[in-house]
Amino acid sequence: MKLLVTGGAGYVGSVVTAQLLEAGHEVIVLDDLSTGHADAVPAGARLVHGTLRERAAEVLADGGEGSFDAVLHFAAKSLVGESVQKPWLYWDGNLGESLALLDAMRETGTSRIVFSSTAATYGEPEETPIVETAPTRPTNPYGMSKLAIDTALAEYARLFGFGAVSLRYFNVAGARLVEGGEAQGERHAVETHLIPNVLKVARGEKESVSVFGEDYPTPDGTCLRDYIHVVDLGVAHLLALDACAPSTHQIFNLGSGSGYSVREVIDMCREVTGHPIPAEVGPRRPGDPAVLVASSEKIRTGLGWKPERDLRAMVTDAWTFVQGR
Ligand code: UDP
Repeated sequence: MKLLVTGGAGYVGSVVTAQLLEAGHEVIVLDDLSTGHADAVPAGARLVHGTLRERAAEVLADGGEGSFDAVLHFAAKSLVGESVQKPWLYWDGNLGESLALLDAMRETGTSRIVFSSTAATYGEPEETPIVETAPTRPTNPYGMSKLAIDTALAEYARLFGFGAVSLRYFNVAGARLVEGGEAQGERHAVETHLIPNVLKVARGEKESVSVFGEDYPTPDGTCLRDYIHVVDLGVAHLLALDACAPSTHQIFNLGSGSGYSVREVIDMCREVTGHPIPAEVGPRRPGDPAVLVASSEKIRTGLGWKPERDLRAMVTDAWTFVQGR
């Protein structure tokens, strides 16, 4: 297939681009490089530099009407804290840019799309694990902007025959490593995520890791999250691409169905790195629910997907990736 990957210079987008190329697809990456890196785009994909508003229509029109088979849409702003400080960046950067992409698709006869949605669309869950029919009550502009895009996709499916799949990511971790080849992993300038921050301590770049609260109603008092290996996540995108059906918007949670606590993650990082990794307990981070675990029932039955890589593999691969940089 001929595919447009938006945000292919970012963490998840670069991993999935590599997997798409490996599966024999032709990939054109569109990325404004605001948070991504040109050298993260796998060799074999063509990089077009620009925003979706600036260049999506032109790229999709290249080769004539309907010359692209599908779009995988990763380009987004994804910092929850920043979204609360500067919501306009998220409404405009996520929803506004995505609408420009959808209209460019409509105009060029490209109707298949796989979209990176998020568990943040659910907000604070009433029940765990979270099923796709759970209420969507995002607690921050990041989650709201992603939910608005999901809504637009449902509408474009109904009105214009789009075949769309939204994958609601839980906690993505790990890296894609190929022996003797290129590696793709997490390289955020502003790093808020747990595993990369813990590994910074093991690398000597930070004194200690801060545990954001240990008074939650969980077995060890720290938050439980559903971690998924980025390679498993990528596999789900390839399955979703095949599952896009005209005039249909499908939503799947992308998580394993089980959770690990912050303490368990830090312990795993200690085991993998052999570093003592000092941890200090700090206050809760505002907006963090105690438990966020996906029901992965729907994606298992609907797409035939299941996670193959455990927390140890995520930490080991992330550790190998950062050491190689
Ligand atoms: N966390 C932490 N210390 C950190 C970063 C994160 O204790 O330096 C906790 C955070 O409160 C949450 C979990 O680790 O309970 C995962 O956070 P992350 O930011 O990786 O992902 P999120 O669940 O917010 O999407």
